[in-house]
Amino acid sequence: MSLLVQKFGGTSVADAERMRIVADSIARSVRRGHQVVVAVSAMGKETDELLRLASEVSRVPPGRELDMLITAGERKATALLCMALHDLGVPADSFTGSQAGILTDTDHTRARIVEVRPDRVRKSLDEGRVPVVGGAQGVSVDKDVTFLGRGGTDTTAVALAHALDADACEIYTDVPGVFTADPRVVPEARRLRRVSFEEMLEMCAAGCPKPAMRSVELARTHGVALHVRSAFTWEPGTWIDEEDPGMEQAIVSAVVSDSSQAKLTVTGVPDRPGIAARLFRALAVRSINVDMIEQNVSLDGTTDISFTVPHDDLDAAWAVVESLRGDIGATGAIADPDIATVSIVGAGMKTEPGVTAMMFETLAAEGINIEMISTSSIRLTCVVRAEVVERAVQCLHRAFELERAA
Ligand code: ASP
Ligand code: MG
Repeated sequence: MSLLVQKFGGTSVADAERMRIVADSIARSVRRGHQVVVAVSAMGKETDELLRLASEVSRVPPGRELDMLITAGERKATALLCMALHDLGVPADSFTGSQAGILTDTDHTRARIVEVRPDRVRKSLDEGRVPVVGGAQGVSVDKDVTFLGRGGTDTTAVALAHALDADACEIYTDVPGVFTADPRVVPEARRLRRVSFEEMLEMCAAGCPKPAMRSVELARTHGVALHVRSAFTWEPGTWIDEEDPGMEQAIVSAVVSDSSQAKLTVTGVPDRPGIAARLFRALAVRSINVDMIEQNVSLDGTTDISFTVPHDDLDAAWAVVESLRGDIGATGAIADPDIATVSIVGAGMKTEPGVTAMMFETLAAEGINIEMISTSSIRLTCVVRAEVVERAVQCLHRAFELERAA
């Protein structure tokens, strides 16, 4: 018998029918002799709907009230799922994050877990029942209800799995696992049987939408094995786990793209200490998260600095650049929203020469221009025009033969 934490996302429980299907699957796990703890998201698009409502009654909704509102979505889902389980003869108890002992800091709308005291969850398990915990929520050290942020139910599931010393944390979602590329862009993309935490984190950072990056970080810290799988087909998915030192790593495991960034370039800035510091401090003060940065070599004492920011922050970043331009002596500035990044990720890249050359040659053969480059030990990222990014993903997937089983 093993102890499983099972997370169900919004699409998995989008309506009453889906809710019953999920309950049926949980019931099967229980009948096979497993102990199951469930973390559930709000139904369908309910979180978006609640946020929309909030924006209609208030221009700047207070964080405390937003959290009270948003977490109602998950609370509703826990009660309904428990009812469906009771109907199948499986005793179940719904818990809010607070009742489940998820203690957080006071940073509303994106609280961080500081401790999990799962006494009631454990008691429910010991009594042979299924605890169903509202995802993405907790209670702060000030005793207020808190929301962990978008995608926070993954984090709830991992935190519970760690606190209860579960055997695995299953993330049920609307896709059957983690793929070598987005199957909507590359039809021959393959489901990966396993990826290491390190690779998964790089893939998240490079634009892979699921699972939520924060939950993968938490899983790596605590060594919680994750199993990402489909709540629609129920077939085995992708295991995300510690790198297996005995196993040969794939040189390239996946191609990932991201169209959520925009590029800014400040031209002709004097090449002396303190200029970049001022620019990036001003961006940091406005909580603008910079991703890639590139600075050219200066031949004439001036240089160009390019960097990328999330699309949503482009206007704010542009305002910062404009306000500093005179001060830092820049000759000009360009904002470019029409970029995207394409990345290849693979643990085996660390020791394999020639991967970079192969990536650049492949893009060149497609006539795709590379505008910026960034690397980590297991990732290579290129900025390209947004309109060619799908083609970039397709040709790289082909060039590295990712459709073939490793
Ligand atoms: N329902 C929340 C969201 O949509 C939390 C989650 O699904 O993880 O972000
Ligand atoms: Mg959701």
